[in-house]
Amino acid sequence: MPDVRHLILLLGDHLDPNGPALADADPDRDVVIMAEVEAEVRRYPNHRQRVAVFLSAMRHLRDHLRAEGFTVVYQALGDADALASLPDFLRQEMDAHAPARVILTEPGRFSLQEALCAAAAEAGVPLDLREDTHFLCSQHEFAAWADGRKSLVMGHFYRWMRQRYEVLLDGGEPAGGRWNYDEKNRDSFGKDGPPDDLPTPVGFAPDATTQAVLDALAPLEDSLYGHAEGFDWPVTPEDAEAALDDFLAHRLPHFGQYQDALWTGEPYLYHARLSAALNLKLLDPRVVLRRAEEAYRSGHAPLAAVEGFIRQVLGWREFIRGIYWLHMPGYLDHNALDAHEALPGWYWTGETDMHCLHTVITQLLETAYAHHIQRLMVTGLFALLYGVEPLEVHDWYMALYIDSVEWVTLPNTTGMALHADGGIVGTKPYIASGKYLQRMSNYCDACRFDPSAATGDDACPFTTLYWDFLMRHEDRFAGHHRMALQVRNLQRKAPEARTAIAERAEAVRAQVRKGAL
Ligand code: SF4
Repeated sequence: MPDVRHLILLLGDHLDPNGPALADADPDRDVVIMAEVEAEVRRYPNHRQRVAVFLSAMRHLRDHLRAEGFTVVYQALGDADALASLPDFLRQEMDAHAPARVILTEPGRFSLQEALCAAAAEAGVPLDLREDTHFLCSQHEFAAWADGRKSLVMGHFYRWMRQRYEVLLDGGEPAGGRWNYDEKNRDSFGKDGPPDDLPTPVGFAPDATTQAVLDALAPLEDSLYGHAEGFDWPVTPEDAEAALDDFLAHRLPHFGQYQDALWTGEPYLYHARLSAALNLKLLDPRVVLRRAEEAYRSGHAPLAAVEGFIRQVLGWREFIRGIYWLHMPGYLDHNALDAHEALPGWYWTGETDMHCLHTVITQLLETAYAHHIQRLMVTGLFALLYGVEPLEVHDWYMALYIDSVEWVTLPNTTGMALHADGGIVGTKPYIASGKYLQRMSNYCDACRFDPSAATGDDACPFTTLYWDFLMRHEDRFAGHHRMALQVRNLQRKAPEARTAIAERAEAVRAQVRKGAL
């Protein structure tokens, strides 16, 4: 009979002290193992704050579990005998403890799950791969829902989830009579900009644990990006709950109305800033959903705002996760639009004349954060129109965003932003010209380009590349009912106008390749 019953491996995105791997844990018979692994830190050219939020939250959980009486074997960055990979670490600890069983919650990355399961199998130790009950739709349930459907429509999935969990329902019908209030959620701030009393989100300055992590990153500086200063992310369940309280009290009532708006110098506006805490499992989405609905029922927040927010958490987030597991590992290889440009170097510095991209990337380097429209309609849109190789885009999003984990980042980039999956996530590409950004932000006011112009030296590269994208993919989208208007507008252009756009697009590409734009 082995001395150790369960060897419980906790990964950096499984940090709920009440999560499935710890549900039946016994401090007297089980050993918890956790590892900071240099290869994981170097897997992408990571933002300092992204690394810090994961490692600090891990160290906080380690300390909490030790205080609860658990034996926690913890490999820290820089330990003299630190192992190079998580499977190697698991092998070492299986050797050291000879457990009867390894316990693991479904990882957030397919390849890691494969490697860890293989390591346990090679060692002959049974591995109990537990469903990640943090999510409200299991992999199995999503596969059953998807089975037999010609296409997977997020709106249908969302409606099903609302009914399953009885969220925002009145007598079985959607509150207010409709499932979706998106048309009320697309305002910009107009010329005047956001109000002066825009709420400042609660922040969590680095404590001693976070500071120790930031100090431990010094030997890895060569592979890190972004600023460590200004780190203010939740790293414990208590922080995460305070962040939720703050969002519900001060920003949720306006979240919906302005969720698509953008403004220079205002990275957060009315957004929740909860995705990192959710993805690290510091915050239970069931609590988030219940409290958001309470805000509507009590009259604190309007239905359109609450419905829009709930759709993100119960609909989009769960849908994306289901898509990831349904289509892995092949989803990594999609490139439906045959995009092969290299990611422009300024995606890592923000040094471009395009003011919208400069603003969003500079903000990202400062905060490790950009909200969903900044991600989709600025950095993602340019990569789509310019034609960047999908995996390069994916790796960039993985590296720089505070909340990135492969299950969420891959379908959002390859599918939603780039349409590289050919329509699995969204039925059409989200394309727009610079005029969209002019309408939704103040970015164009300070830009040397003209968002209305597609040709000429001051033509907005988004506008040029928008028409060029439609020309390059005209055959593909001509018969697509949701693209019909855009394709018809293209077809109204005279042959000379098309030629001029194609030439300008080639000039833009040449400038971007040279780093001159
Ligand atoms: Fe961006 Fe074009 Fe507007 Fe400049 S003009 S900020 S490049 S959308």
